[in-house]
Amino acid sequence: MEQQFQDHNIQSIAVFCASNDGIDPKIFEEAYLVGEFLANNKIELVFGGSKLGLMGQVAKGALDNNGKVTGVIPDFLKSKEVVHTGLTSLITTQDMHERKLKMHDLSDGFIALPGGFGTMEELFEILTWGQLGLHRKPIGILNSNHYYDDLLELLQKMLQKGLLKESNMNLLLVSDKIEDLILKMLEFKPLPVPKWMNKDQT
Ligand code: AMP
Repeated sequence: MEQQFQDHNIQSIAVFCASNDGIDPKIFEEAYLVGEFLANNKIELVFGGSKLGLMGQVAKGALDNNGKVTGVIPDFLKSKEVVHTGLTSLITTQDMHERKLKMHDLSDGFIALPGGFGTMEELFEILTWGQLGLHRKPIGILNSNHYYDDLLELLQKMLQKGLLKESNMNLLLVSDKIEDLILKMLEFKPLPVPKWMNKDQT
C-alpha cells in the first residue's frame, strides 16, 4: 500500500477499538489495514497499549510496516497478559482519566473502530470535549462492515428529537474506508470557539 497523503497537518492519530477479537473476520482484518495505512502515510498511531483484540491488530499493522506506535496504558492494566511489549514507546499513566488526557494531548485526531464499552466511552468523551470547545481536532468513525449503522441511526434520532445539535453532529466524521475517513479529517473545519469560553478574557 502506497503513501497517499503528503504534507498534511495530522502527524498522529489515536485509535479507539475493541480489546477483543470479535467474530467478524472483515472487522478483524480491517483493524490491521488501518495500522498499515497509518504507517504508510507516516502517521503515528497512539492507542491503548494492549496486545489484545483489535487493539493488537492495529498496532501489528503499523509495526509490521515500520510505523511509529505509542501505547498509553494505566498502571493497573500493565500486566504481562495485556501490555504490548514491542511498541515504539509505552507511556504508563496513573489511571484511566490521565490516560485519556495523555492520548488527547499526543494526537492530532481520533478514530473509533468497532469496539465495546471502552471504545464507546472513549469516542463519546472525546466528542463531548469537542462539543464543549475543549479541543478542535477531527474525530472519525470507521464504519467497518456496517458495525456502526445502528449507532448512526440512533444519532439521527437524537437530531430529530432535538437533543443533539446539527453543528455538534457535524463534529463526527464517518466513512467505511480509511483513506476516505482520513481525507475528511484533513478537510475538517472545527466549530468556532463558543463565546462563553472567552468570557473571562473579554
Ligand atoms: P472495549 O471496547 O470495551 O474492548 O475497550 C477498548 C478500549 O478501552 C481501548 O481503546 C482501550 O483504550 C481501553 N481498554 C479496554 N480494555 C483494555 C485492555 N485490556 N488493555 C488496554 N486498554 C484497554
